[in-house]
Amino acid sequence: MTGPVMRVRFAPSPTGYLHVGNARLALINFLCARRHGGRFLLRLDDTDAARSTEAYAEAIGQDLQWLGLEWDETFRQSARLDRYAEAAETLKRAGRLYPCFESEEELRAKREQRLKRGQAPVYDRAMLKLTAEQRAAAEAGGKRPYWRFRLSDGAVAWDDLVLGRRQVKLGAVSDPVLIRADGTPLYSFCSVVDDLDSAVTHVIRGEDHVTNTGVQLDLLAALGGDPARLRFAHLPLLLDEKGEKLSKRLDGLSLRRLRTDGVEPAAITAYLARLGSARDPVPARLDELIADFDFAHFSTAPARFDIAQLQALNRRVLHGLGFAEVASRLPPGATEAFWRAVRGNLDLLGEARGWWEVVAGTIVPPVIEGEGEFLRVALETLPLEPWDAEVWTTWTEALKLRTGRRGRALFQPLRLALTGEDHGPDLRTLLPLIGRARAAQRLQVAAA
Ligand code: GLU
Repeated sequence: MTGPVMRVRFAPSPTGYLHVGNARLALINFLCARRHGGRFLLRLDDTDAARSTEAYAEAIGQDLQWLGLEWDETFRQSARLDRYAEAAETLKRAGRLYPCFESEEELRAKREQRLKRGQAPVYDRAMLKLTAEQRAAAEAGGKRPYWRFRLSDGAVAWDDLVLGRRQVKLGAVSDPVLIRADGTPLYSFCSVVDDLDSAVTHVIRGEDHVTNTGVQLDLLAALGGDPARLRFAHLPLLLDEKGEKLSKRLDGLSLRRLRTDGVEPAAITAYLARLGSARDPVPARLDELIADFDFAHFSTAPARFDIAQLQALNRRVLHGLGFAEVASRLPPGATEAFWRAVRGNLDLLGEARGWWEVVAGTIVPPVIEGEGEFLRVALETLPLEPWDAEVWTTWTEALKLRTGRRGRALFQPLRLALTGEDHGPDLRTLLPLIGRARAAQRLQVAAA
């Protein structure tokens, strides 16, 4: 059986930089579309003109491209205001959109009263009873209405691809405001019109939208859409390592920030693809993540975002990267042999710069107290060039015989003298890259 082509959308508001929470949803939309031969739409929810900026809109595109999440189609809500106005007229004609005049204070007072009486703080629909005269009087007094959608009675249910059967009782939700007094339409409304018009088949978003889904399915039907043709997948929220909502810390977890910190995009996508599933993240390319994608992998419990886990995965991803994949980001002159020697020792690619200094630059090692004699013998024993790949072994074997030293006592002063560091890549691969002239000079300095 062939159904309609799958169409999914990632719909950020350009009111800030994308963070790992957004990126996860973008990724899952992308993977789902690619897995099923569908289309991935990027929609910018930018009707909030006061908070949306062009700079953020551009940054969203750049960040998605950096992650490798190419979209097939894109559009902005701000370009569709006429269409939303038209849809609003349809709702008005059907008696589903009604004007309201209550101020924020009035609404708050009503809510408090209802709570005192032990009732749910739901809007009482007082304005549904407004007569034409009352409305005219309010408008004559300079007030302009905002518009609420009259929800249906009963409940709306759907089979969520992640959460399973879900239901929203519409009586427990206030009639939502769809149009502000200044005429601007709100996200909840625009989103439904867009999902209809752009023939979206699957809405994949955060669990915080579950109640919205109930409302939006009702709205969709009121606009002539068929709720049965839209599937939903709500992904559980992200928590931090301590189990608190991640949303408070998201600024520090923007893609921009991770990028300047030097985290690999492939580590981010591989991490986010398995976050919230029972499977540990492993290094994987996007095509592997696509082939592996299945909603059934996701748990219904909140997912824990652990930056330390992402960093650990970043290490593993780096170790697996070939020279061609990183050459443009390595210091000028860095060779494939250099990359092979150091990649196993990096947390972040940027650290390669320091090792390039060790190999090809002019680092100054510390003077190593009490090791002067040993280092002078080491210098005398250092083989003459040409060197082969075994030079480290040849040299240290000779040193072992001359000094009787072995293990840490033998290697540690050499490592510190040659690299200026306590830890690092295998000296067997590093020494030939450092070369005899640099090695000799550093041994001399450290022995002084
Ligand atoms: N702009 C909305 C948000 O970022 C989109 C939600 C949706 O996917 O419908 O929360």
